[in-house]
Amino acid sequence: MSEKLLTDTALNVAEAFKNISAAAEKAGRDPSEVRLMAVTKTVSPDKINESIESGITLLGENRVQELLEKYESYDKRAEIHFIGSLQTNKVKYIVDRVTMIESVDSIKLAEEIEKRCSKIDKIMDILLEVNIADEESKSGFSVDEIIDASEKIKDFPHLRLRGLMTIGRFGAEIEETRQYFAKMRNLLVDIKSKNIDNIYINILSMGMSSDYELAVAEGATIVRIGRGLFGERKYKV
Ligand SMILES: *Cc1c(COP(=O)(O)O)cnc(C)c1O
Repeated sequence: MSEKLLTDTALNVAEAFKNISAAAEKAGRDPSEVRLMAVTKTVSPDKINESIESGITLLGENRVQELLEKYESYDKRAEIHFIGSLQTNKVKYIVDRVTMIESVDSIKLAEEIEKRCSKIDKIMDILLEVNIADEESKSGFSVDEIIDASEKIKDFPHLRLRGLMTIGRFGAEIEETRQYFAKMRNLLVDIKSKNIDNIYINILSMGMSSDYELAVAEGATIVRIGRGLFGERKYKV
């Protein structure tokens, strides 16, 4: 039998799936509740397609321009979520290419997504981004604003609120990060209880390369991994 050479990307994807399963089982969760997202910023379409070949079904895009440049080269078996900061004037370029916008950080942005999706007759799944560590420099709703924001989303017929997303605080210690993740889990329970039509509210997108196992232990249903699958990022300057 011929031996198949596995690429680094294939090995990393396999390792991440294994770690997610182990973390879920340890926490008494069903591993199938957790989706592994490959975060694609700065990564070539070839490598991204290798990850899809290895079992990735979900891509995370940060930048509109980069998504537009790479989109045609992507293996279309994977769906795409937008996870980066999104200017209202760029919404029109992505609404037909992504299945979810995870980084809704203002009602103004929600209004624009509503407007653009109504034009193409699409209902967009969205997550509200939470600035969980209350950082000056970060976008997202504060913990205090989330309930109110989730109620406002109900007025938009082309948006379907699915849950919450957070980035956490860069450089935080493990215990601090665990508390943020636990706070996110509680916040999801809160918005579920405040929304009568809540059967769709079941997504918690949190955890990246450095802390995804902890996120799974605390209830994440999407973990977003970049460097852990594709190696360190090389930014063009
Ligand atoms: C880059 C990025 C990630 C992945 O970060 P890694 O440390 O490379 O795993 C996840 N979420 C968002 C929003 C990102 O911008």
